Amino acid sequence: MRIDQATPEQLREWEAQLSKDYDAIVGKKLSLDVTRGKPSADQLSLSDELDGILAGNYIAESGVDTRNYGGIDGIPEAKRLGSDLMGVPADNILVGGNASLTLMHQTMLAAYQFGLTGTSSAWKNVDSPKVICPVPGYDRHFTVCEQLGIEMITAPMTADGPDMDAVEALIKADPNIRGMWCVPKYSNPTGVVYSDATVERIAKLGLIAHEDFRVFWDNAYAVHDLNDNPQQLASVFDLCAKHGTDNTVIQFASTSKITHAGAGVAFTAASSANLTGLKAFLGACTIGPDKVNQLRHARFLPNRDALMSHMKKHAELLQPRFDAVLSALQEAFGDSDLGSWEEPAGGYFVSFDTRPGCARETVRLAAEAGVKLTPAGATFPYGKDPEDRNIRIAPSVPAVEEVVGAMEVFVVCVKLASVRQALAA
Ligand code: PMP
Repeated sequence: MRIDQATPEQLREWEAQLSKDYDAIVGKKLSLDVTRGKPSADQLSLSDELDGILAGNYIAESGVDTRNYGGIDGIPEAKRLGSDLMGVPADNILVGGNASLTLMHQTMLAAYQFGLTGTSSAWKNVDSPKVICPVPGYDRHFTVCEQLGIEMITAPMTADGPDMDAVEALIKADPNIRGMWCVPKYSNPTGVVYSDATVERIAKLGLIAHEDFRVFWDNAYAVHDLNDNPQQLASVFDLCAKHGTDNTVIQFASTSKITHAGAGVAFTAASSANLTGLKAFLGACTIGPDKVNQLRHARFLPNRDALMSHMKKHAELLQPRFDAVLSALQEAFGDSDLGSWEEPAGGYFVSFDTRPGCARETVRLAAEAGVKLTPAGATFPYGKDPEDRNIRIAPSVPAVEEVVGAMEVFVVCVKLASVRQALAA
């Protein structure tokens, strides 16, 4: 089906047929949900051994009793787990509570309100500090900025990561830019892995940006590969060291999609100057994180091999769901001008771009046919997709047959929205 080459007559025929197909689907009264990137119950069960793993031995290798207060930056064996996950020396890692989102929020709040390297570095000292958001991106990053009243400016994502010409131009043009969000591996939602050249250019941003500029490097999918030979992400930590920009990038990760999503362990990796600023802030929020859970995780995933073989089990459960999405898209749109998408080799999402102006209507049609999709616009700051094109599909939770069913609906909705728009034009 190629809309651009269709005659009005053909469009009307298609519309009539698709409307019939759609009504038949509505009649099935489906109830399917492909909205959020969460692990399925089967994935969560892979880590049930965590429960009881300590068998009464709560003492960390440092001799600390993990049941007690203290240890704002985490126990040594949990730092090593963070090091295995993020590829950063354990000395540069702070281990937090269950959510990396909390650490990102707290770090941005500390940078904004108090300054990570002294009060004169606080972003609030500037009239209108701004943060660059590659789009499409992760809605919860945007919510953090929105809550803190930090203005967001967008830069387009490419197949290699953020468009670095655009990012560098923005930074050079506006001295009030203080930050940038990045999801460098299996980016949410486009699934791309930043190329080596992109990572190096990001590491070098500290050479052209204001000294209080920080990249929030959210490596949520650091080890979430679907294939055995995944594309390697260059080490931004090493590249910052090479270019003398150690303070520029602050990294985040967690075990949320490795063990139990709501009861995992989160990590920050940063220069010692940044860690000092963050710890000063955290010290006012808490006497210390949940070290018992840190110890459980360190015993469950004692080294990189254990971590990677555990992730293979996740991949086995996720792969058929991704296959179901990608084969449905290929079959329906492979030879069409109705949409485009990336084929992610990991992470939790498939990002689909409709023809301009069709995303919102596609999501609405799908909802009425019983398939919940992430709201159109959610992948852009302030919920505004200027071209109304992007839709994020998250296939991890439903069973494979349900993903297949959801994609049948999705395909019909994309086609119907596109044809109706063409007829109205
Ligand atoms: N970052 C990204 C890019 C995510 O997709 C998610 C979860 N969807 C998170 C962070 C949340 O991580 P956590 O559970 O550690 O807060």
